[in-house]
Amino acid sequence: MDMQVSFLDRLFESGLLIETGVDGLYGRSGQFEDVITAFERLIDRVGGADGAEAIRFPPGMNRAYFEASGYMKSFPQLAGTVHSFCGNDHDHMSLLQCMEEGGDWTKEQKATDITLTPAACYPLYPTVAKRGPISMDGGLFDLQSYCFRHEPSKDPARQQLFRMREYVCMGTEAHVTTFRQTWMDRGVEMMKSIGLEVEIDVANDPFFGRAGRLMANNQRDQNLKFELLIPVTSQANKTACMSFNYHQDAFGQKWGLTLADGSTAFTACVGFGLERIALALFAQHGLDTSQWPEHVRKTLWG
Ligand code: ATP
Ligand code: ZN
Ligand code: MG
Repeated sequence: MDMQVSFLDRLFESGLLIETGVDGLYGRSGQFEDVITAFERLIDRVGGADGAEAIRFPPGMNRAYFEASGYMKSFPQLAGTVHSFCGNDHDHMSLLQCMEEGGDWTKEQKATDITLTPAACYPLYPTVAKRGPISMDGGLFDLQSYCFRHEPSKDPARQQLFRMREYVCMGTEAHVTTFRQTWMDRGVEMMKSIGLEVEIDVANDPFFGRAGRLMANNQRDQNLKFELLIPVTSQANKTACMSFNYHQDAFGQKWGLTLADGSTAFTACVGFGLERIALALFAQHGLDTSQWPEHVRKTLWG
């Protein structure tokens, strides 16, 4: 815990992260952003020849899609919704009065049609489903989005609004499991090329409640999720900087994703935690990028 606080304090002192008064909500300096930009270019170089279709969604998604995704069944504790004032003049007067008195003015806000995106791939499945059947060669998509998760923390690697770069593959079982394995191998190589010590391990998502325990065990037993771990704030508790998720045909069933032969599509996604990778680099090589090892600088900036 002390380690985490001091790394966060050093990040604030160096100006790499900028305090906002909310744990897990930070501004970032130009130098911090340069690292993310350079790492994304590395991702482009590694994945570029695969011919993925690039799509960028804003960090909010259609609430109807969010509801259909089942996110509230699995992760209600992490979700974020967008609410707005929708009243008349009279309601406005009461709103200001309530704020004046230090009351809870947010209670009168109404849910809009937008929720915050919990993972970069969430808006993709219903979008692709609407296009009709996927060719037998499969579908491959390149995504990047700010994601929201309500998990305030003093750990600089656990933020509430952070960026996730993802590749999502849709196709036959063999196709998507090969895709996942390819990115596990690439992920390890990429991190090595920037001087980071990595480990891959089986993992599970933080499914909510008692029923969630079972889902987490099932996910582990079936090797559905792997994480690439790098020491960021502690050697003992490494941080997941990438994840490799195999959904079997669960999303295919849920969203009606079919292949040209009429079968249900299998899906998998690989996600890069961009802030976490930048933080891993700063933890490993120091807070000043000009002092980083030459081979690391060369890989990132040429
Ligand atoms: P963790 O187990 O640390 O909570 P996760 O399993 O929730 O991670 P995923 O849902 O697989 O992570 O998200 C994909 C990637 O996004 C992660 O591998 C990580 O690099 C990044 N990520 C997830 N949550 C956060 C967060 N709160 N702050 C910064 N990056 C995050
Ligand atoms: Zn995903
Ligand atoms: Mg998590």
